[in-house]
Amino acid sequence: MNMKNKEILVVLSSPSGGGKTTICEKLLKKHTDFFRSVSATTRKKRKGEKDGKDYLFLSEDEFKSRIKRKEFVEWAWVHGKRYGTLKKFVTQAKREGKVALFVLDVQGGMAMKKKYPQSVLIFILPPSMKELKKRLLKRGTEKKEEMKERLETALKEIEFWSRYDYVVINENLNQTVDLVEKIICSERQRSTRFDYPRWKNKNSSQKLKP
Ligand code: 5GP
Repeated sequence: MNMKNKEILVVLSSPSGGGKTTICEKLLKKHTDFFRSVSATTRKKRKGEKDGKDYLFLSEDEFKSRIKRKEFVEWAWVHGKRYGTLKKFVTQAKREGKVALFVLDVQGGMAMKKKYPQSVLIFILPPSMKELKKRLLKRGTEKKEEMKERLETALKEIEFWSRYDYVVINENLNQTVDLVEKIICSERQRSTRFDYPRWKNKNSSQKLKP
């Protein structure tokens, strides 16, 4: 039956270095009906990042005028910079019936759940704090001071795990991607997402044999 799916808003959160961006990229490669919401930020572009793909890199003034124009679903200060989710990605998900992935911090996760209670919040945890530190060091994109701040924020963020719908421990990347896929697949079958009037309509146009 050719029916458009209802959209699913999926929030992926984890402390910095927890693996959420990599998981998101893997999911996007496998599923053409998934897309990623590109957040806006005032932080500097890192090596290898592309404007409009990884983030929409904005100046402080540009970000503030977008707040004024009410373009954000939510925005928050993270590590002293502004980060925000643009409303247009939620609209796109609804219009196209796709799975939208939002890679957000816990403030963003909480804001999304409040605005869209049907959104699915997944918290990705590293196997241990020791492992998290190791992963952050390996990434090497932050200076020592920033790393310390990110680790402190990580400890605070982890406390939010119980306010998420699902918790997945990222021991092994492929297994984690599998688990996240399964969560999204199950969510798609939720009765609350079933478009019954559309299904019924489709059936009523066919001749039913007694
Ligand atoms: P990074 O600078 O490492 O790319 O991101 C820092 C943190 O900001 C991450 O936890 C990331 O998920 C979060 N973040 C990215 N985009 C948004 C957003 O639109 N809203 C919120 N609240 N957090 C975001």
